[in-house]
Amino acid sequence: MEEFAAPIVRLSSKEYFKEVFEFYRKKTDDKEKAIKILFPVISVLTGWGIAEELSRDDNGAKVRVYNSFESQAYVRRGKKSNKPVCVFLQGVFQGLYESFFEKDVSVKETLCAATGAPYCEFEIKVK
Ligand SMILES: [Zn+2]
Repeated sequence: MEEFAAPIVRLSSKEYFKEVFEFYRKKTDDKEKAIKILFPVISVLTGWGIAEELSRDDNGAKVRVYNSFESQAYVRRGKKSNKPVCVFLQGVFQGLYESFFEKDVSVKETLCAATGAPYCEFEIKVK
């Protein structure tokens, strides 16, 4: 079931977050300000986890999330996944960075707390 649901979850959060980013871009009139505001907003208001942008250049970005809600479903039950599970957040960062860079990006979850890592990390690459 999970593998069939993943693309739907990811596509929904991607499209949704493109709109969220546009909302903040219009409010701040500046995409750099928009992205700076969005990480604290995600961390404090959504309950999705504590998100921080570790680095960014013209080729992509690296993002870390502590206590991502998707991984916590495993951690709380004392279970481990053999692969990263945070598909909703992958979609969130795909939507966010595709809007920011105005280009298609790929998102890979390189570390996931559900597999036993201390946090989740996402590598975003401009295509
Ligand atoms: Zn994860």
